Amino acid sequence: MLPDVQPADPDTAGQLREPCVLLKLGEIVLKGRNRQQFERLLHENIRRAVRDLGIEVRVWQREGVIVVRVAGADRGGLLAESAVDLIAERLTYVMGLARVCRAIRVAKDPEAAICAAVALAAGCPGSFAVRARRRDKRFPVTSAELAIEIGSRIQQEYGYQVDLRAPDTTVFVEVDQREVFVFTQGWPGQGGLPVGMSGRGLVLMSGGIDSPVAAYRMMRRGLRCHFLHFSGMPLTGPESVYKAYGLTRQLDRYQTGSRLFVVAFGSAQRLLATSGAGRLQIVAQRRLMLKTGAALARRLRAAALVTGDSLGQVASQTLTNITALDDAVSLPILRPLIGLDKSEIMAEARRIATLAISELPDQDCCSLLTPRQVETKARIEDLRKIEARLDADDLAEELAAAAQEYSPERT
Ligand code: ATP
Ligand code: MG
Repeated sequence: MLPDVQPADPDTAGQLREPCVLLKLGEIVLKGRNRQQFERLLHENIRRAVRDLGIEVRVWQREGVIVVRVAGADRGGLLAESAVDLIAERLTYVMGLARVCRAIRVAKDPEAAICAAVALAAGCPGSFAVRARRRDKRFPVTSAELAIEIGSRIQQEYGYQVDLRAPDTTVFVEVDQREVFVFTQGWPGQGGLPVGMSGRGLVLMSGGIDSPVAAYRMMRRGLRCHFLHFSGMPLTGPESVYKAYGLTRQLDRYQTGSRLFVVAFGSAQRLLATSGAGRLQIVAQRRLMLKTGAALARRLRAAALVTGDSLGQVASQTLTNITALDDAVSLPILRPLIGLDKSEIMAEARRIATLAISELPDQDCCSLLTPRQVETKARIEDLRKIEARLDADDLAEELAAAAQEYSPERT
């Protein structure tokens, strides 16, 4: 357990100088009635995100902010500083947080707050502004007085210029009920909603650029995601599986506990081809993938499938073909990229660090058995006829049952 420092204690008042992380909530603050439940989920996700670091943390809900403290950090020291740095870095990946600020918690004493704020500005050259706020109006100094005093001391001490409109650094001072928090603007969080708030989904993930971005977008809307990859094995090598594994690991930073399922799809693809799929081969394959996804989703109790489809991007993504894909399963298919351009998707893939993996060479299973001309207006009756020849629903169940599972570990 953490020692609970009481700032009112004359022995510790004035000496408390504890590094911690202050988190500003994103959209969650708008959620009114269910807010407590969301906050609980977010706290749990915060703990999960740092669990493997082996650092004991305490998560505190304050009015509109969350404070993450490290055991023993109130005693200061380099170890505490670097533990808090590590935790802050991890929390920039947690969904549902608008901002992640490395903060200092000091005793509720004007001079302690001023000293901490001035010390914090030391490492931030350039123009600055001070924003002070009192949640406890009994604090003996007003917000304006605090800001002015801190501002003039920073100017005197380091010669930095005040710029209230577009400062390089903003020093925040927040007087809370039991202590004062001092911090700078920190880093942007991921925004969105806590993972898990919207239930669970299964992402159909190729080794391509789009599907990892689709997964990221859905995680940011609170969907806990598992992953399903189809390799062309035994007709191709295992390269696409390595990519799917690497992508899952990157995406795991945003949720932890990800599970990747891999299905060797080559033989089923050949079966479709020998059943006379012809121009419908690609759409028929995609339907079989979705059916397999639905079978696996049932086992995982996932309530939706997610794909990286973008309208018109490739032949299988015309409106008619997308309609034919929807017909394959009763589960909802979420397509968060449906209205995005490739360049927009690529920019996001770069930002979430999946692009470099997606661009590695592999032989995608969809490049096997590609017909010379791909049907852009697939008819549902024709697809159902092909599927009846090979008992597609049973085949999908078998494929799902034979899926290999991998759990990417954080390194
Ligand atoms: P991506 O969209 O990931 O870049 P892609 O551009 O090759 O792949 P398509 O082949 O048209 O796109 O596939 C569209 C969607 O179908 C993918 O976003 C993905 O959700 C799903 N999908 C395609 N191939 C696979 C696969 N081998 N394994 C799992 N899902 C796949
Ligand atoms: Mg695509």
